[in-house]
Amino acid sequence: MLYQTEQEHCPECGHQMEINPAYMTWCVNCNWNIYGEGNQGRESASEKLNKESGEYSSDRLLEAFKYSIDRSLPFTKQSVFTYSIALLVHFSTLAILGVAIYFFSTNSTWLGILGIALLFLWITIILPYRKRLPGRVISRDEYPELCGMIDEIGERLNVPPVDMVIISEEYTTYNLHLKRKKRVLVIGIPFFAALTLQEKIAAISHQMSQFAHPNISNSSLVERARHVLNSWIDTVDPQDSGLLYWVVFPLIILRLLLFAIIAGVYSLLIKSMRNEMQRVFYIADHEASETAGSEAVLSLFLKSEMEGLFAHTAEQVAEYQYNKELYEEFRKRISAVPTQELLRIQRVQEMNDTQSRSYHPPMKNRIGLIKEHWAMIPGYRPDGAKERRINEEFRLLEQSSQKILLSDLRGN
Ligand SMILES: [Zn+2]
Repeated sequence: MLYQTEQEHCPECGHQMEINPAYMTWCVNCNWNIYGEGNQGRESASEKLNKESGEYSSDRLLEAFKYSIDRSLPFTKQSVFTYSIALLVHFSTLAILGVAIYFFSTNSTWLGILGIALLFLWITIILPYRKRLPGRVISRDEYPELCGMIDEIGERLNVPPVDMVIISEEYTTYNLHLKRKKRVLVIGIPFFAALTLQEKIAAISHQMSQFAHPNISNSSLVERARHVLNSWIDTVDPQDSGLLYWVVFPLIILRLLLFAIIAGVYSLLIKSMRNEMQRVFYIADHEASETAGSEAVLSLFLKSEMEGLFAHTAEQVAEYQYNKELYEEFRKRISAVPTQELLRIQRVQEMNDTQSRSYHPPMKNRIGLIKEHWAMIPGYRPDGAKERRINEEFRLLEQSSQKILLSDLRGN
């Protein structure tokens, strides 16, 4: 008992700390234990490397954008570099075919067999990457309000209607470019279940803004190069030992070497696009902020951290065979998260100066920029009647989604 009362004071500064047994105890005053036990100042080697290489350009861009948001994507030396890497990828892949043809022309049996192996390799690499759709396509007739809202948000940002809206059971939203320039918006129902209408609008605006600013990563040369690199990685990945790979790469060293080279080229390609991609993200943050209001964008960021809570809720709901309300339960739990914990997540985000994934700008900068160009009044807000109709459509989407998720988790 004595222990617990002692624990309520911060060991660093003595400040009184709120205790909630289900959550981490941390100090609001000096941020003691804000990352949880043993995680103080956590930063992996790759994060550190990322940070150092990206810092300079990222800060310069941030400074410029703090002054005013420039929505153009200029052609720079970096773009030339990106296109050269993409070309290099295409040419070296084509070179395999060249070598195979040369082997065939020599009339040697052994080289001929090697040539056939190389030909197989080449075909595997250049075969179109079969993108399976990540969820279910919804039609305009079934969900006219939701699709109408997406169109209206697009109109504000000068984007023609998307070609496809897909819903999935993932805790995320993103956009896809399919073949023949088809633009797809993917809405994860678990994530949207956590959001208010204004936050949903912010999430949709963020994606629509990316459609409004086509960037170097969508250019077909670069996109194809990424597909080719992906199939290279699938083919030579040391983890994966398909039959083809034993035929083509009998030498382990060669395979590892090749893997290292391909991974290196891939990260160079991503790195060369980083500047432009960061631009795209800052612009999208800003346009989402103008459309949905800055408040909604910041709370959207906060809720994107609740994937763990969702997974936990889903597991527990699935344990009881007769439980059907997953999303209601999830929302109940979100509203039960103590303010102290929300403040902790918020502060961790505001301190996060590493670039997440391959090219998102650091969260700290994104939040900083939104605060700099604060939009109090949302540019788009459906009236009460429309809001009810949209919510009704989401209720239907949630019903089918939780049925799928729960039967998945229950294994039937
Ligand atoms: Zn403290």
